[in-house]
Formats: sequence, C-alpha cells, structure tokens
Amino acid sequence: MNLRSRLFFSHLFVMGVGLASFILISKVYSPRLFVLQLEEMEQALFFNVRSVRTYLIRGFEQTWNRSTLWSVLFGAGAAGGLSYWVARRITQPLLQMEQITQKFASGDLQERMSNSEIPELARLSSSFNRMADSIEGNEQRRLELIGDLTHELRTPLTVMRGYLEEMAAGQVDPSPEVYQKLVVETRRLERLVNDLQELSKAEAGYLKIDLQPLNIRPILESIVERLSDQLLDDGPTLQLDCPQNLPLVIADRDRTEQISINLLGNAIRYTEKGSITVKVWTEFPWLWVAVIDTGVGIAAEDLPHVFERFWRADRARSRHLGGTGIGLAITRRLVELQGGTIEVESQVNRGSTFRFSIPLSRSSFRSAGGFKID
Ligand code: ADP
Repeated sequence: MNLRSRLFFSHLFVMGVGLASFILISKVYSPRLFVLQLEEMEQALFFNVRSVRTYLIRGFEQTWNRSTLWSVLFGAGAAGGLSYWVARRITQPLLQMEQITQKFASGDLQERMSNSEIPELARLSSSFNRMADSIEGNEQRRLELIGDLTHELRTPLTVMRGYLEEMAAGQVDPSPEVYQKLVVETRRLERLVNDLQELSKAEAGYLKIDLQPLNIRPILESIVERLSDQLLDDGPTLQLDCPQNLPLVIADRDRTEQISINLLGNAIRYTEKGSITVKVWTEFPWLWVAVIDTGVGIAAEDLPHVFERFWRADRARSRHLGGTGIGLAITRRLVELQGGTIEVESQVNRGSTFRFSIPLSRSSFRSAGGFKID
C-alpha cells in the first residue's frame, strides 16, 4: 500500500472509530434520556403522556436513525474527500521529488521542485533544489574542465606530432634545435599536468595546510631577492615596501611562498618595463600583501575571469610566455585555505595590482597598540 492510501485509510479509520463511538453511545443513551425527559415533563406539567409514550419514543428513534444516517453519509463523504485531499497534498511533493531524482539519474539536471505550502515540505524542497543546483554546477564544471583540458593538451601534442611526422618523412633534419623544440613542448605538458594536479588537490581540499604564527617579511625578502636576479637589465625593477616590524600572521610558510611567487611570476611575465612593488600593510585583523606592476594590465571586462582556471586574456601570448592559465586559480584557492581573500585591480597598459590578505595571529591582536598600523 502506498503512502497516499495509507494516509487516506488512516484518516478514514480515525473517522470511523469516532463515528462508531458516537453512534454507539448515542444509541444506548439517547432513548433513555428521552424517556427521562418525558417523565420530567409529566411531573412538571401534570400531564399524562402514557397513552402516546410508545408512539413518541418510536418517533424519536426513527428521527434519530434517519438524522444519524444522513450525518454519517455526509460526514463520511466530507471526511473522505478531505483526507484524500490532505493525503494528496502531502504525497505530491514526494512523488515529484522521486520523478526528479529519476531524471537526475538519467542525466537531465534541469528540473527543480515546486514550492509547497507545508513548511516542512517547503524546507525539504528548497534544500533539495540547493543540492540539485550544486550537482548541476559540478557537472557543468566537470564538462568545462574536460573541454578546457582537451584544448590545452591538443596544442603541444599537435606541435610535437608535426615535428615527429616531418622528421619521419625526412622533411626536417633531426637537429638539436628541433629536439629542443620538442623538449619545450614536453615541458609544457609536464607543467600543465603538475598545475592540474595541484589545482585538483586544492579544489578538493586535499592540500595540507600547516597554519602557524609567521613573520612573512623574511619570506618576501628572500623571494624578492631571488627573483630580482632573474630580471633583465632593461626589464622592470623589483622592490619590497614592507614595514620593519611586522605583526605575526597565521599562515602556512610554503603556501604563502607559493602565492607570492605565483603573483610575482605573473607580474614579471606581463611587465616589460617600469616597476614591480611588493607592498605590505596591516588592516586589522588582516595583513595585506599587494603585488603592484606597471605591465600590460587586464581589461575591465576580463577582470571577473582572471581567477578562473584556464582563463587567459591572450591565449596565444600567455602560452608563448609559458602560462597555463591555472596559476591564479591555484593562488586563489591557497589564499582561501589560509582564511584570506584575494582581489585584483587593473588598467590596460597601466598595470595591475593583485592583493591578498592573511589573518593576523592572536598575539598580534593582543598587542594591537604595540605595532604601527599603516
Ligand atoms: P598564466 O599561467 O597564463 O599566467 P594565470 O592563472 O597565472 O595563468 O593568469 C591568468 C591570466 O591572467 C594570464 O594569462 C594573464 O592574461 C592574466 N594575468 C595574470 N597576472 C597578470 C598581470 N600581473 N598582468 C597582466 N595580466 C595578468
């Protein structure tokens, strides 16, 4: 028996028990009460109804029977209709949910639950819809990832196949330059795979984060020093603008290093001349690190996409410069894993500012008056 029938019959059963007890009690007591009433009437009015008493009682019983029959018929009809309606209202959303889950299982992720007037079912519908949205979003991202990945893999593979085919056909000599080009493409594939692995770990939350009180000034100093050595003489200058006494933050040393290197690497990649500045300041309860460059910049309409994986303002140029379009997606995830946020501001041909926040440590909170807040 399904839920609707169960609800319907349970209502009918409750009503049946109610009616049966009403009829039984009424049937037993009503004639007796009627007789008592008649006797009281005789005494009060000094009026003898003995001759018509049997007639009156039978009349009462007949009227009682008829009215009870009509009440039962009408009551049963109304209660039956009502319980059918209630049972339907309760089971309808459940049936709809079952149909939708079946559609989901067969790959159709469009349908959603309609709202219910019953608060508990309305809550169930809305959490079901939220779950459906999240499944649909995940599926969408999975498809996009496969599409993007295919696209990214195809370019180096095509280049490599081209060279190999030409060498096999004797159209190109297997010179060291050709091998070097093949090595470049293989490296690109390798970097892509490594970045992807890192990204999938970060997105699935598998990256180990070892949060501890940290002074990030020495970390930034060493990164700036290392990267300055790689800059060409006619390239941009790289400097650190950081207060001497920096409050401690709660962060993972390696991840903070990775975030800073990713942002600085991009700044170097997309800045031909001018300057790149790493600026650090505190804004209670955060410490902010900004990487400010005077490079090519990013168009306003592109800014919302910069942290999406595989997104690149200029695919050809970025690929040429060795970019995979995954760096900022990983960076954002790492910043978020440390409890901070990352923001970007940019103007085409003027430069970009990428800044991220790190939570200050509790000891810094206590000594808030002890350090300078810039
Ligand atoms: P990529 O490996 O291609 O650099 P990212 O995720 O690090 O991938 O960056 C995504 C895109 O954002 C880049 O391809 C580039 O178009 C743009 N971008 C990132 N940083 C900068 C910057 N400092 N200046 C200009 N454009 C940038």
